[in-house]
Amino acid sequence: MQPRISSIKTPEHLSQTVTVKGWVDRRRDHGQLIFIDLRDRDGIVQVVVNAEQGELYEEAKKLRDEYCIRVTGQVVKREADLINPNLPSGTIEIIASELEIYSTSKVLPFQLHEEDDTPGEEIRLQYRYLDLRRKEMQDRIKLRYDVIDYIRSFMKERNYWEIETPILIKGTPEGSREYLVPSRLHPGQFFVLPQSPQQLKQLLMVSGMEKYFQIARCFRDEDQRGDRQPEFTQLDLEASFTSQKEITSMIEEMYLGIVKRFAKEQELLADPFPVLTYEEAMSNYGNDKPDLRIGMKIGDYSEIFKQVDSNIIQSILSKGGVVKGIKATQGANWFSRKVFDQLMEYLKQHGGQGLLYVQYNEDGISSPLSKFMSEEVIRSIKQSAQAETGDIVFMIAGENQVTLELLNVLRQEIARRSGLYKQVENQLAFCWVVDFPLFEKNAEGEITASHHPFTAPKKEDIALLDSDPFAIKSDAYDIVLNGVEIGGGSIRIHDKDLQRKVFQTLNFTEAEIEAKFGHILKAFEYGVPPHGGIAPGIDRLLMILTKTESIREVTAFPKNQSAKDLMLGAPSAMPSKQVREMGIQILE
Ligand code: ASP
Repeated sequence: MQPRISSIKTPEHLSQTVTVKGWVDRRRDHGQLIFIDLRDRDGIVQVVVNAEQGELYEEAKKLRDEYCIRVTGQVVKREADLINPNLPSGTIEIIASELEIYSTSKVLPFQLHEEDDTPGEEIRLQYRYLDLRRKEMQDRIKLRYDVIDYIRSFMKERNYWEIETPILIKGTPEGSREYLVPSRLHPGQFFVLPQSPQQLKQLLMVSGMEKYFQIARCFRDEDQRGDRQPEFTQLDLEASFTSQKEITSMIEEMYLGIVKRFAKEQELLADPFPVLTYEEAMSNYGNDKPDLRIGMKIGDYSEIFKQVDSNIIQSILSKGGVVKGIKATQGANWFSRKVFDQLMEYLKQHGGQGLLYVQYNEDGISSPLSKFMSEEVIRSIKQSAQAETGDIVFMIAGENQVTLELLNVLRQEIARRSGLYKQVENQLAFCWVVDFPLFEKNAEGEITASHHPFTAPKKEDIALLDSDPFAIKSDAYDIVLNGVEIGGGSIRIHDKDLQRKVFQTLNFTEAEIEAKFGHILKAFEYGVPPHGGIAPGIDRLLMILTKTESIREVTAFPKNQSAKDLMLGAPSAMPSKQVREMGIQILE
C-alpha cells in the first residue's frame, strides 16, 4: 500500500505494511533506535529503525537531513509517552522493514524549519528550490494555487471562456517599458512581450467571443519595487455588451468569495466596497489608492488660517494656495520635538518645506504657531478636525496638489510611527476608485493616457477632446486593497473614429497611428461590440492575504530586486554566434 504520508491514519492503516517516499526532515540517533521524520509535500511521519535490524540499521545510520528515501514498514501505535499531539500522524509510527536511499543531500545552505531564522533573501533566491521546501513557502504556493483554482471556477460559472493569447506580440502601450525579443527569421525586427493582453482581448471581443478570461502573465521592464516584478500574473478578463456596474459587481463578488475562503485571520472592513471618485480620493487622501484602514481624511483649514498673523501663510493663501491637514488621534502618545524634526526631515525628502501642528493638551495647546493664533483660531481648528485632548492636527501650507501629496506621505508615516499599521494589520479594506481623468501629464509634461488609450471617455465629456482634454473623465475603475492598487479596468472605446481621435489627442502622428495601432483600427471596421474589462492582479492580492511585504514571497521563482534570476543566472550573455544570427551587434 502506498498512502501519502499525510493520509496515514488510525485505525485504517494500523498494522498495515505501507510504503512511503519523501525527504528526511530530521533524524535522531538514539543508539539502539534511529528515528526519522519523513516528510512529503503534505505531512510528516515518524519512521523507526532498530539496532537489531542489521543491514537496514547500517543503512539508516547513513541518513542525513534532506536525503530523499523510500521506506516500507508496518504502521504501529506509538508508546503513550511518545505521542506527538502536534502532528496529525502523531499517534503512530512506521517500523521500517525496507529502506532505499534515492539520493543523498549535501548540508543545506540554510535551515528549513519554522523555528529557525528566515534566511537572507539573496541565498533564498539562489537556492529557491530549497527555499520552497520550507513549510511557509509551501503554504503560500498552495494558497496561490487554491486562489487561482477558485478564480477559474468562478469565471467558468459565469460563462467566461479561458482563452490563451500569445506571448510574442507587438507592443501595446500601457505606460511601461517593454521587453523586446529579437526575431532571428526577420533580422532587425522584434517581438514585444505583452504588458498585458489588452489589445488581444479586445480583438477577441471583435471575434464575438463575448466573455473571455485568462490567468495571464504580463511583462514590464520597469525599475523594481517591493510589489513589482518583471513578470507578474493577472486575472485578465473582457466582456461584450457589459457595463461598469456589471464588471465591478462581479469582481466584488469574486473578492468576497476569496476573502471568505482564504483570509484566515483577516477581517473585511466594509461590504459592499466603498466607491470613491478619483476626485474624492485625491481631496480626502491625496492619493488615488487610499488605505481606508488608517483613515485620516484630509481637512481644509485655509479659511481659518486667513485669520492667522503669519506673512508666509498669508502669502501662500493669497496665491491660491491652501492649508490642509490630518488629525493624528492621540498623537501626544508618540509625538515629541525630536519626532517633529524627523517628520520635517522626511517631508523634505519628498519635497516638503514646512509642517505645522497643533497639539491639544489638557491645559492648552502646543504649537510652533501658538503666538500667531488667536483662541478663536485654535478652537475652530479643533472643531473642524473634531479633535480631542491628546490629538494633534498636522497641517501643511502650499499649492493644493503638492500639499495633498505631502499629506498622503505624512499620513503613512504617522500610521507607521503611531503603531496604527500594526493595529490594523488584520483588516482588509477594499474600495473602488472611479471616474479617473482620461489623460494626464507625464514627468516630461506631455499628454498621456491615465489608464491606456483604449479607455472610453465619459459620453458627456467627448466634446472636450478638442477644447480641454485634461478635463475629460473616463469610464475607468481601479480596485484598491489596503492602499495597494490590486486591479484596474475600464469600458473601452468601440468606435473607430473616436479611437483615432484619442490617438490624435495623444499626439501620435498619422504614420505612428498606422504603425502602432493600424491592426486595431482595421478590426474596428467590422462590427465591434461595446465592451469592457478589468485585470485584477493575483500576486499583490496574495501578498496581502499572506501579510508578506513583497510579491517575491508568493511567486515560486521570482527575480530579485534588480530583475535578475539568481537561481538560473539570468539574464546572461549569449554566444556571439547566436547573437549575430539575430542580426544584432553588442556594443562594448
Ligand atoms: N490591461 C489593463 C492592465 O493590465 C487592465 C484592463 O484595462 O483590463 O492594467
